Amino acid sequence: MSAGVYAARNLLTTVILEKGVVGGQPAVAERIENFPGSPELDGWDLTARLERHVKSLGVTIVEPEEVTAVRQEGLLWKVTGSRESYISKAVIVASGGQPRHLRVPGEKEFTRKGVHYCAHCAGFGYEGKRIAVVGGGESALLGALYLAGIGQEILLFHRRESFRSERILQQQILNTENVKMMLDSVVDEIYGEKQVNGIRIRNVKSGETSRMDLDAIFIYIGYAPSTSFVDVAKDDKGFIQVNLEMETSFPGIFACGNVIRENAQIISSMGEGAVAALSASRYVMETDF
Ligand code: NAP
Repeated sequence: MSAGVYAARNLLTTVILEKGVVGGQPAVAERIENFPGSPELDGWDLTARLERHVKSLGVTIVEPEEVTAVRQEGLLWKVTGSRESYISKAVIVASGGQPRHLRVPGEKEFTRKGVHYCAHCAGFGYEGKRIAVVGGGESALLGALYLAGIGQEILLFHRRESFRSERILQQQILNTENVKMMLDSVVDEIYGEKQVNGIRIRNVKSGETSRMDLDAIFIYIGYAPSTSFVDVAKDDKGFIQVNLEMETSFPGIFACGNVIRENAQIISSMGEGAVAALSASRYVMETDF
């Protein structure tokens, strides 16, 4: 969205292709507290404002549109989508990521039947229930805090003793009565019949295992970058390699946000989006197409 604003203000014909929800992950965040200058930002509201902003500048948003390939055609790029193809002078890849899976027995079988990856999307179904949250980053802690307002008891499983998230979130968790931290603990199996009804947990230090009855498990163990449709230089985890101008290994392709780094923040992704669009604008203006 931020790249869209900057590209459109340089009078480039700009199209945003969106596979799922316009705005991506922040759109489903109820509360964003670390956006400088806006301590109580609502993710949906931020997204709606961004959408109005890009549209006011004449940017077209095509949704749902899933990009399956980006191929070179002379000096141009052919972007193939599930609906149609687009010929473009420059491409900015800002496709974010997909939730990582635990890869334990029961996870696949009970997905959307008690196994979830988004508290704001599925949490409302578990009022008064006992819920597990897995992970130690910001997403897990924010998910646990959100679910604490819905469920009776929230068990936050983290495989280590110390959390990765912002420390202020850890403090909020400690001050939330119905969230219990389960440290040095991993989930080895998810049980259920039609719906999840329990998990097997293991303490990584003692090796002790036990079964625990509960109604749902929300998994937040990071995101894998969605970059398979574009053939530029990537690291071994699939993150696109860029320089400070957000240029990739191919002139004309730029990248920003969760596709270039593991530790993206909304503010850093928006900044990178702006830089990517400025670089793309310069590239389009300077290239003899
Ligand atoms: P993350 O920061 O990568 O954290 C993933 C967590 O899952 C880590 O604590 C990791 O443990 C744990 N984990 C990974 N694999 C696991 C496994 N197989 N079993 C058990 N635990 C496992 O992911 P995230 O919380 O989704 O955040 C992603 C990025 O978005 C981060 O940069 C974050 O700061 C950002 N974010 C920002 C906001 C915001 O701006 N408001 C909100 C949410 C997220 P270890 O710590 O031991 O590796």
